[in-house]
Amino acid sequence: MKIAYNLKSSNERRNNQLKPEKTLPFGQLRTDHMFLMDYNDGEWGNARIVPYSNFSISPGATVLHYAQSIFEGAKAFMHEDGEIYTFRLDKNAKRLNKSAGVLCMPEIPEDIQIKAVHALIDTDRLWFPVQQGASLYIRPFVFGTQDSLGVFPSSFYTFAVVLSPSGPYYPQGFTSPIKLLITKKFHRAVPGGTGHVKASGNYAASLQAGEYAYKNGANQVLYLDHTNTYIDEAGSMNHFHITRNDNVVIPEFTDTVLRSITSESVIELQKRLQLDIVQKRIKVDDFISEIKNGGIKEAGGFGTAAVVSAVGEYLLEDGGKLTVGNGEVGEITKYIYDLYTGIQTGKYEAPEGWLQKVERNI
Ligand SMILES: *Cc1c(COP(=O)(O)O)cnc(C)c1O
Repeated sequence: MKIAYNLKSSNERRNNQLKPEKTLPFGQLRTDHMFLMDYNDGEWGNARIVPYSNFSISPGATVLHYAQSIFEGAKAFMHEDGEIYTFRLDKNAKRLNKSAGVLCMPEIPEDIQIKAVHALIDTDRLWFPVQQGASLYIRPFVFGTQDSLGVFPSSFYTFAVVLSPSGPYYPQGFTSPIKLLITKKFHRAVPGGTGHVKASGNYAASLQAGEYAYKNGANQVLYLDHTNTYIDEAGSMNHFHITRNDNVVIPEFTDTVLRSITSESVIELQKRLQLDIVQKRIKVDDFISEIKNGGIKEAGGFGTAAVVSAVGEYLLEDGGKLTVGNGEVGEITKYIYDLYTGIQTGKYEAPEGWLQKVERNI
């Protein structure tokens, strides 16, 4: 794949360089450029890096009406050697293709996706935020652009990548646990649906449950399966809990649970963490009685943005409240977070292939 470059002047780029003294928000800033590639006549082409700017899109584009759109979320880190490394981008590229299959969209070869992200990061490397806990958040996405009001897969697509220089997800540190509202009223996904892939429409469908959680004093909902029997996951992160015997339990990856790369990576690290991590279906009634009995020490969520979120309290729809442990961030949760972020930032040795250096002048 040849990439065409249409860049802003280097002066402009330098002037926009981030001020390290400010703590950056997560996910709000953008870099100067974006990567674009189009799907026409059955093939991907016209790969280019251009200034970050608005798209021109047909009012009849399928993405606007029927949400034929998928996305990924990954991160890159600067190590002590001053080089930028992407973290497990091959996993994101694989998952984007899995999502593409489910949404009847064309796949993009993994090596092309990875090259696109690396070339964009290299172009905008001056945007890497130099501050504690910072990362470059990577957002690849694909959407249907055909002007058609009929409901069928688009013949035309755009693959885009944008970058967001980000501060730590929890700027005050890993101190305040979140609250989850266990809901039987809303469901994120159904068997045979799109819940196991990163389809944009899943998020549109989750907004009302999010509002409902805020109104009831929680940060997010914890979704159950459609029979209201088993724990599925939270709106944007997998769920986990830690038992009295230090077993970490993650709900099984059914077709209503997103296969989180963070969960998979934590499972791969279990030997190094000296923890037993199991995946199984978890009955919500058992979970609730275990919290009441003190059988659950810690709980939380796994996902790229926050890496690990600690849950301090569960709210029930009958008005009940359950505190996990002493309501603080637990020791094992902290330990998982420290090892994981230490691997990402080069403080600890990474398993083979997890980090890939962004070369210069790709
Ligand atoms: C993206 C996402 C996650 C987290 O996945 P990671 O690969 O760890 O970032 C969890 N649940 C849902 C619904 C998601 O969309």
